Amino acid sequence: MRVATYRAGQENSWGVVRGDHVSDARELRDAPRTVRELLEATDHSRWLTALADPAARTFPLKEVQLLAPLEPRQDLIALGLNYGIHLDESKGVTMQTAPPKQPILFGKAASSVIGPDAEIRFDPKVTTEVDWEVELAVVIGRRGRDITTAAALEHVFGYTVANDVSARDLQFLDSRQWYRGKSLDTFGPLGPWIVTTDELGDARGLRLTLRVNRVTKQDASTDDLIFGIAEIIASASSGRTLHPGDVILTGTPEGVGFTRTPPEFLRGGDVVEAEVEGIGVLRNRVTVGPER
Ligand code: ZN
Repeated sequence: MRVATYRAGQENSWGVVRGDHVSDARELRDAPRTVRELLEATDHSRWLTALADPAARTFPLKEVQLLAPLEPRQDLIALGLNYGIHLDESKGVTMQTAPPKQPILFGKAASSVIGPDAEIRFDPKVTTEVDWEVELAVVIGRRGRDITTAAALEHVFGYTVANDVSARDLQFLDSRQWYRGKSLDTFGPLGPWIVTTDELGDARGLRLTLRVNRVTKQDASTDDLIFGIAEIIASASSGRTLHPGDVILTGTPEGVGFTRTPPEFLRGGDVVEAEVEGIGVLRNRVTVGPER
């Protein structure tokens, strides 16, 4: 099932995508108003079943504006260096050569999140080294702490695509400033929708690609993850409660801009497409200039 959040006219709604149409939660009496409220509800399956029903009223997708599939409950939990070849290509800057023994977790501000087709915007007075990172993102659907790897998937509602846009000049300033480099406004594209676990399971064997102006820059498989979804959830929930609506970015594979010779960074007018097989394409245009 594909669960999308969108703007229709002057109002936001959410629904289930079927083909090129999306249903409308506003049609259901007492339905949660947002996907995050849906996840926080004790039984979300009844709303989803009703909205997936072929009899549900729908909009053509082309008549609505897709938004980020949910408003994350708190800052995004992200992973560094979780693909072997990316670990290797980054070692000149990160000085890390051996695979990490545990997931390297860092935060990315929830305020950075934007939806499909929204602009990635940066001010060249703040950063001139803006880079891309396609990632599989996990959406938590059930609360838990000290979750075991065996139980981890029961806590996953579904998956979406993330572009962990990163200001490398800020990220690597004075050693490591990951939170700062990754948290600028508009640096957290998510979408185009959430695909539930009944379709994607543990998300193994999915191809991830990223294109800049239709040129492929990243092309890998989630099979190359050093830490899989269950291990990541076990680690992220160790001594810390995960809540419905939390989002975990699982790391990016090789092919980012800063490791290229010469390094490549995003410029105004670029179109970035991050894609994960079985989920969809997350497309954003880059604009350079101070905030409007
Ligand atoms: Zn990342």
